Amino acid sequence: MATFARENNASKAEAYMDSVYAKGAFKNVYKGKYTEGERTGKECVCKIFISGSVFEESYFQVELKVVAKALEVVNSFNNDKIIDKKIWLNKPTIWTFTPCSGRKGEKTLVEPMISNFEKFNSNTGWTPRESSSWIDVMQALSHYSYHSTNRRLLFCDLQGGVYKDGFIITDPVIMSATQEYGPTDLGAAGISTFFARHKCNKYCHSKWMIPHDKRVYFDVQKGSAMVLPTRQSRTPLTCQLAGLSIQEE
Ligand SMILES: [Zn+2]
Repeated sequence: MATFARENNASKAEAYMDSVYAKGAFKNVYKGKYTEGERTGKECVCKIFISGSVFEESYFQVELKVVAKALEVVNSFNNDKIIDKKIWLNKPTIWTFTPCSGRKGEKTLVEPMISNFEKFNSNTGWTPRESSSWIDVMQALSHYSYHSTNRRLLFCDLQGGVYKDGFIITDPVIMSATQEYGPTDLGAAGISTFFARHKCNKYCHSKWMIPHDKRVYFDVQKGSAMVLPTRQSRTPLTCQLAGLSIQEE
């Protein structure tokens, strides 16, 4: 099956750590620029876990597991030709700050920058008030993920940017009956909550499965809801140098 991963295609970058570009549920995002490889000169983002990335090896592994599963869904959605455009998934890789940077050895997730960033749904079933084809397609993609995995999981928190030949998604969330996809996996109750708020649109097929239980267990919110309490930052972000160098492992 063709794969729709959008990869770094680079081995080195410079990260601008002097200001946070965006804040995720438990990650800070910084801007950067590739300095070696095919994408040299293009923008990237580098994501650091707020609770202190040096210690959070397991978070990186969970993140990569979520991305791998989300990529299977995206590949299959494209393959099944649910829409006539293609959807891509940004595939981050774990990079390490180089010795000359003030964060020697610290790890970060690096992926290509997405412009025209928008959010289309959340893991509690939030959706934008306005309507557009892409908004509808994203709701259908979430619904499709549940059907195509035979009720095992739900791909949600869909966000990214529209490009001329399709759509690029980043920061996926997977919720599963077995609740094995990290802190944003709200389990079966999360899946039920999502579908309680989901309205099928013209891109959803009527034969697609929905959960038997469609009750609301979580309040709606645009940001990603988490099941673990937010931990205090263990390593203060004292490093304020711009242009730190990071490289692929
Ligand atoms: Zn639907």
